[in-house]
Amino acid sequence: MTDKIIITIDGWSSCGKSTLAKQLAKKLEYLYIDSGAMYRAITLYFLRNNIDGADEKEIKQALKNITVQFIVNPYNQQSEIYLNGENVEYIIRDIIIAEKVSEVAALKDVRKFAVAVQQKIGKNKGIVMDGRDIGTTVFPDAEIKIFMTADEAVRVERRFKEMFQKNPNITLEEIKSNIALRDYIDSHREVSPLRKAADAIELDNTNLTEKEQLDFALKLFKKNRKSVEV
Ligand code: C5P
Repeated sequence: MTDKIIITIDGWSSCGKSTLAKQLAKKLEYLYIDSGAMYRAITLYFLRNNIDGADEKEIKQALKNITVQFIVNPYNQQSEIYLNGENVEYIIRDIIIAEKVSEVAALKDVRKFAVAVQQKIGKNKGIVMDGRDIGTTVFPDAEIKIFMTADEAVRVERRFKEMFQKNPNITLEEIKSNIALRDYIDSHREVSPLRKAADAIELDNTNLTEKEQLDFALKLFKKNRKSVEV
């Protein structure tokens, strides 16, 4: 029996879920899985293959042709996503994907496909997974659930800084409307909408440093594990 647990981190777009999840996983020597990367990789496949999302048969067929894997990069110890054997970790961060991903992620067959892969990855525990429905649908029995939030203006600013480094043509307005659109679709879709699980602990990091939010999560871990030293 493993004494490792599952930690889920859900929340609104661009509030720092992956930053916290990565640091927490590193500290605990757990696996970090970015579930959003799966939806982004599926979106990339749909865009490349002109799958528009209206034809259920076409979607089901497309999903049969998709394999997504997380493979740890030995140079930085981060898990990176592969779509049918191709490392797409960087391409999927493009704004073109961000503009389409929430539409694709709302499709019920897409969610069924992604959730099954996520549950398989988490079956041995020892995992920190971030996303939108991880504490509600993927791992409803997770030992620790965190729901992250931050003021909208702060989220927009953080995402803008990150995206601007890769694409100096990007505007604050574009980022703002993309975040608002994704949050709206993610929280209003029929299947597994973004919700705070009843037993999730809310973490508002508007005024927190990365260290402070990590300390907050480690405290939860210590409380849950009682005797374990981290
Ligand atoms: O986390 P990230 O912003 O990369 O996720 C991209 C998109 O993938 C989200 O806006 C959402 O539409 C979708 N997503 C989801 N469920 C998850 C993770 C991400 O619907 N568990």
